[in-house]
Amino acid sequence: MVHNQVTIIGSGPAAHTAAIYLARAEIKPTMYEGMMANGIAAGGQLTTTTDIENFPGFPLGINGSTLMDQMREQSVRFGTEIITETISKVDFSSRPFKLWTEWNEDEAPITTDAVIIATGASAKRLDLPGEETYWQQGISACAVCDGAVPIFRNKPLAVIGGGDSACEEALFLTKYGSKVFLIVRKNFLRASSIMAKRVAACEKLEILYETVSLEAKGDGKLLNALTIKDVKTEEVRDLPVSGLFYAIGHNPATEIFKNEKLDFDETGYIKTIPGTASTTIPGVFAAGDVQDKIYRQAITSAGSGCMAALDCEKFISEESVN
Ligand code: FAD
Ligand code: NAP
Repeated sequence: MVHNQVTIIGSGPAAHTAAIYLARAEIKPTMYEGMMANGIAAGGQLTTTTDIENFPGFPLGINGSTLMDQMREQSVRFGTEIITETISKVDFSSRPFKLWTEWNEDEAPITTDAVIIATGASAKRLDLPGEETYWQQGISACAVCDGAVPIFRNKPLAVIGGGDSACEEALFLTKYGSKVFLIVRKNFLRASSIMAKRVAACEKLEILYETVSLEAKGDGKLLNALTIKDVKTEEVRDLPVSGLFYAIGHNPATEIFKNEKLDFDETGYIKTIPGTASTTIPGVFAAGDVQDKIYRQAITSAGSGCMAALDCEKFISEESVN
C-alpha cells in the first residue's frame, strides 16, 4: 500500500511551484503529473504553445515546453517524487484521502494526508474545419498570451465569443491589429454592461452579431480567412483575418472531483476560501486554473501554487502537533 504525506495532482506552473515550496520545506511531495490527462501532455497548457514572453525572469522569452521542463527539473532537484500517471478516481470523504490512478482502479488505493489539486483547465474549441491546421498558426485561445506576436501586427483579427473574456481579449487586440471583429452568435453580448460599453465605444472594433463561424482558411501555413455565416440572412462570406481568437469559455479539469464535498461554482471551477488555497475539505487545497476562471496566467497559477504549498505545510505541521 502506497502512502504519500502530500500528493499533488497536476503538472502545470501551479503544481510545480507547490512542489518546489513543499520539497524545500522538507515535506517530500509526490506529484502525479498525468499521462496526456485531458489531452494535454505533462507540463500542462504551456506545452501547447511556443514563446512565453510575460513570465518574469526571461527577458528574451522562453519556449513553453522548455519553461515547464525547467520547472520539473527544479521540483525534482529539491526532492519531489514525480509519477507519470493520471489520477482517475478520488475519495476525500475520510482521512487519509484515497486516490487511484487509471491503471490501479481495481487495486488498493494510494493514501495521502493532504492533496493539492492543480489539474488546470482547457480552452473550449469549436472543431471547425481547418482549426487543427492553423492552431497556433493564426488561431489561439489566449489573446493576452499570443496577441503581441508579429503575425498579428497591423492585420485584421477576429475574436469569437460574447462574454467578458471575448470583450476583454478583443479590446486588448486593438493594440496590435488593424481592426478587430467580435463574432457573436446571439444578437446580444453576454458580457457585463461596462465591458459591452467599452467594446461599443472602440472604433477599431466591429461586432458581428448573429454570426457563426464555419471554417478556418489559409495558405497551408498561416491562417488568412474565416468563413462566417449571418444566421438571419443566411449569407456566407470569407472574412479576411490573420488572427482568430477563441473566447468561448474554458473547462476546468474537475470531473474526477465532482462527487466530493468540494464547493464548485456554476461552471465547475473549485471555489477556494478567499485569500487562501484551502477548499471546503480540510487538507484539500486547490491552485492554478482549476480554481481561477478570471486571470488564467502562468504567473498567477504559480502564485497560487505557492499559496497552496504554504497552506498545506501549515496544515501538516498543525496536524503533527495535535
Ligand atoms: P495547467 O497548465 O492547466 O496544467 C495542468 C496539467 O495537469 C494538465 O495539463 C495535465 O497535464 C495535468 N493533469 C490534469 N488532470 C490530471 C490528473 N487527473 N492526473 C494527473 N495529472 C493531471 N499564460 C501566460 O502567463 N503566458 C503565456 O504566454 C501563455 N500562453 C498560453 C498559450 C496557450 C496556447 C494556452 C492554452 C495557455 C497559455 N497561457 C499562458 C495560460 C497558462 O498556460 C495557464 O494559465 C497555466 O498553464 C495554468 O497552469 P496550471 O498549473 O493551473 O495547470
Ligand atoms: P462565458 O461568460 O461563458 O462566455 C462565453 C461566450 O462564448 C458566450 O458569449 C457564449 O455565447 C460564447 N460561446 C460559447 N460556445 C460558443 C460556440 N460554440 N460558438 C460561439 N460562441 C460560443 O465565458 P468567459 O467570457 O470566459 O467568462 C467566464 C467568467 O469569467 C464569467 O463569469 C465572466 O464574467 C468572468 N470574466 C470576467 C472578466 C472581467 O470582469 N474583467 C474577464 C473575463 C472573464 P452565448 O452567450 O450565446 O452562450
